[in-house]
Amino acid sequence: MSNLYSYFTQVTFLLFIIVNHLVEIYLTRRQLETYKNHALTPPPEFSTFITDSEHQKAIQYSSAKLRMGQFHLIYDAALIFYWFPMRGAEKLYHALSLDGMHREVFFLIIFSLIQFAFSLPWSIFSTFHLEEKFGFNKSTPKLFIIDRLKGLLLGGCIGIPLLYAILFLFQSLGDWWWLASFTLVTIFQFFIVWIYPTVIAPLFNKFHPLEGEELKHGIENLVKNAGFNAKEVFVMDASRRSSHGNAYFTGFGKNKRVVFFDTLLKQLQTPEILAILAHELGHMKLKHIPKSMAASLILSFIGFWLMGKLTHQEWFFNGHFIRNVSPGILLLLFTQALPLYTFWFSPIGTWISRKREFEADAYAARETNPQHLIQGLLKLYQQNASPVVTDKIYSGFYNSHPPALERIKKLESFKS
Ligand SMILES: [Zn+2]
Repeated sequence: MSNLYSYFTQVTFLLFIIVNHLVEIYLTRRQLETYKNHALTPPPEFSTFITDSEHQKAIQYSSAKLRMGQFHLIYDAALIFYWFPMRGAEKLYHALSLDGMHREVFFLIIFSLIQFAFSLPWSIFSTFHLEEKFGFNKSTPKLFIIDRLKGLLLGGCIGIPLLYAILFLFQSLGDWWWLASFTLVTIFQFFIVWIYPTVIAPLFNKFHPLEGEELKHGIENLVKNAGFNAKEVFVMDASRRSSHGNAYFTGFGKNKRVVFFDTLLKQLQTPEILAILAHELGHMKLKHIPKSMAASLILSFIGFWLMGKLTHQEWFFNGHFIRNVSPGILLLLFTQALPLYTFWFSPIGTWISRKREFEADAYAARETNPQHLIQGLLKLYQQNASPVVTDKIYSGFYNSHPPALERIKKLESFKS
């Protein structure tokens, strides 16, 4: 019976690898087709805001990114195929001559380093060819290398102690390891989200308070209504790496911040800055971060519970082409294979995220002027060379923000 289960799981796993990647390529092709059909002029609703040449640049830039993405998808499929059906992960594990927990941790470190090395050509190509070609790249090879080294070091400092702790729980707690690991990982995640704005983000960028006499008054009114502190509005030196613009809200408790990229600020007038700030404050006021954290808590509980149930099921790891299971291989399997199964739920995540964007927009429209937010958003599109057209199905899988037209129409409806 166990053999039948594992055979069935093998077929399912292979199907997921193949079908998921084919679907992703299909979605990419749909998006490329939409871009092709709107290659020359923006939709009439945008023709007074976006020039034909801006629109054409956005279409060319985004199409180039998608074409690269297609190759990346094939590359990813080949990698996962190598690690599991071709038993690459198991071969790597058996090639190591360490014992006990060190072997498990070392195996996971080597695996991560190999994955990192495989991803490197893509990020080099993307930064120094694609972004460069369209005039976005501001990074230098030196800064690029420093960023990668910092990332690796940070990953090691956070990841290695966590791995030791999880593996310790795995070996000492028997059937209940999953609950203890879930608790540990959750506390750890909260801690990381909490220290991110003040400790982790400043490792990569400089932050200084948003200033300006004209802004000051507007900001003070806005933050007072949102129960926020004007000292928590920051500007980040994003221009060190690229000329893309953005703004975001991060953290919780005393460590929350609204951050503007310096690149975006340069493009905006004061009322537009205030409208975008109001949108970010809307996310805070409507408790979007705690809500997301609560949702991910529930999902991660289910994930760990499932891991606990499947740990001792031979059909499960045989079904994923693993002959001799070890804690390290099991952790690898869960982290690498799980996204294949959860991919199909991504439209739900996208839908929730869009609902929250609309809510934050509505908040900003009440607190400021919807027309200013529309102008700010259009500048954001223009600055990032994001096309204002999109394929509905593609965007339903990948875009956390609503399509431009839907968003702007909704904001228009708030004008009175
Ligand atoms: Zn938002």
